[in-house]
Amino acid sequence: MNILTFGPNGSGKGTQGAIVKEKYGLDHIESGAIFREHIKGGTELGKKAKEYIDKGDLVPDEITIPMVLETLQKSKEKGWLLDGFPRSLAQAEALDKALNESDMALDCVLEIVLDREIAKQRIMGRRLCANDNNHPNHIAFDAIKPVEKDGKLVCRICGGELSMRDDDQDEEAIGKRHDIYYDDTTGTMAAVNYFKNKGTAKIISVDGSKTIKEVYNEIMDRLT
Ligand code: AMP
Repeated sequence: MNILTFGPNGSGKGTQGAIVKEKYGLDHIESGAIFREHIKGGTELGKKAKEYIDKGDLVPDEITIPMVLETLQKSKEKGWLLDGFPRSLAQAEALDKALNESDMALDCVLEIVLDREIAKQRIMGRRLCANDNNHPNHIAFDAIKPVEKDGKLVCRICGGELSMRDDDQDEEAIGKRHDIYYDDTTGTMAAVNYFKNKGTAKIISVDGSKTIKEVYNEIMDRLT
């Protein structure tokens, strides 16, 4: 099964994606996480991407598109859940073309709908686990609240060290990321509409303002 996930930064898309991919044994491919790995590893791609990411701008398509398409190919047998790509109409068209050419079908588009102001508040409270990118931690949600150890907040799952993304604490960068997401002319909402209009994949739109469990149950009800 191949799934595309959409939702503004802060909608819980990563949290839900991590649970869904586990249930169906899919590879979880997150374009933002691939960039962060490159930055951590000090690669050339990472160095180029960082200047855009820190400002909340999109990394140029000539870097992003081949990087993501190559990763999808590697997960062709297992199936994938793609998060963070496509983020624009141009990326949606490139993805659609690549899927056709490589005989991969898109089974489902999962869209988490959330108001922009709520999404912003949520972004500022999330924390990243040093051991595993798929360990959700958020200071404002009881279900995924970090735990305290030796006077410090640590990952609620593995006790790993927590950090904040630089671009999550910068209101200007958050604003730019959301401008891109809610843009239905050439931005991410245009990419969502592209696949909705195409009509070949199952579309599941859920209300992201509900609790993690409610959102998950709704996704499961409609996915199966
Ligand atoms: P995310 O982890 O999805 O919030 O992505 C973090 C940052 O990585 C974004 O703000 C962009 O700078 C960059 N990025 C991630 N995915 C893409 C994409 N599909 N196209 C361009 N830039 C991206």
